[in-house]
Amino acid sequence: MAAKKATPAKKSASGKKTTAVKKATPVRKAAAVKKSVPVKKSAVAKKATPVKKTLAVKKTLAVKKSAAVKKSAAVKKSAVVKKAVAPERVAPARPPRNESHTALVRRARRIDRELAEVYPYAHPELDFENPFQLVVATVLSAQTTDLRVNQTTPALFAKYPTPEDLAAANPEEVEEILRPTGFFRAKTKSVMGLSKALRDDFGGEVPGRLEDLVKLPGVGRKTAFVVLGNAFGRPGITVDTHFQRLVRRWEWTAEKEPDKIERAIGELFPKTDWTMLSHHVIFHGRRICHARKPACGACPIAPLCPAYGEGETDPEKAKKLLKYEKGGFPGQRLNPPQSYLDAGGIPAPPLGATTAAPASPSTGTAGPATDSPSRGTG
Ligand code: SF4
Repeated sequence: MAAKKATPAKKSASGKKTTAVKKATPVRKAAAVKKSVPVKKSAVAKKATPVKKTLAVKKTLAVKKSAAVKKSAAVKKSAVVKKAVAPERVAPARPPRNESHTALVRRARRIDRELAEVYPYAHPELDFENPFQLVVATVLSAQTTDLRVNQTTPALFAKYPTPEDLAAANPEEVEEILRPTGFFRAKTKSVMGLSKALRDDFGGEVPGRLEDLVKLPGVGRKTAFVVLGNAFGRPGITVDTHFQRLVRRWEWTAEKEPDKIERAIGELFPKTDWTMLSHHVIFHGRRICHARKPACGACPIAPLCPAYGEGETDPEKAKKLLKYEKGGFPGQRLNPPQSYLDAGGIPAPPLGATTAAPASPSTGTAGPATDSPSRGTG
């Protein structure tokens, strides 16, 4: 047994060493070794190791140790350097050239999922109680903010609650009500014309089919999809100015015409996602990814965006560009859905209200007067 235990030392030594080991390890001693604890055995082994080898081993160990120390120091140093120069700003995530359709689908859906987390309360930002109110409000929202439309329509629908009422109205009175929305003469013509068509061709009801909706005066595919998606629960992609801008920034499509954009984006998402996708994109366009000054430095999807850097990348400066609830200001709806209120959203005040918005948590300054036209299209 003793001989067996001593074997590893013998094997690992050179020929000379084997002899030394043999000499140095008499049977009796081996018996003692057997009884003794491994420390003794190790002592024997040490004794048997020639001086040269010991030096060589020491040298090797020293070299290894010094290499390890150097390596660890280098790693530490490199970590420190990395930490010191770690970029605070997010690098743009350019999609690869010749991105495959599958890769594009994955990327687009990932952006939508992230936006759904940022805006879990996304909703249509026009106040409405029925399809008629929604189709009229959507026509009025051209070239103005949803906020301004929401502040104007309560008076309109109080006086003309049905298509029949609006169709039979005095145009001048309607124009007076619609004046704050801009282009009020043309808009009066459109809403009165579509009310007449609803009364005469659809029995006073808003039709729930795309092909019927687009026949109404002043109603294009965009308005039709807003109505289908939000008043009838039928999937629709709303290609408004924000949607067009953002999908191009994200390189989801290079198309420029709304109909072609709608088709291209429709291929990237299942139909069931279309309505909420539109809300997510439009919410993002209104609050963060603005036309002239996108707030890239405060954008939660910056790591996924190929256009990162098109706007302000300094986080502090970018925060000041945020609008609506992201900037600490009221939203656009006077009567927003409960989910928006639950998320801390502030409803917009009625037209003419002088109350300023509460202090912005990000800027610490009071928000703009809520009926200010300076908030841009939205
Ligand atoms: S704000 Fe900047 S980073 Fe964010 S989506 Fe728009 S362009 Fe991209």
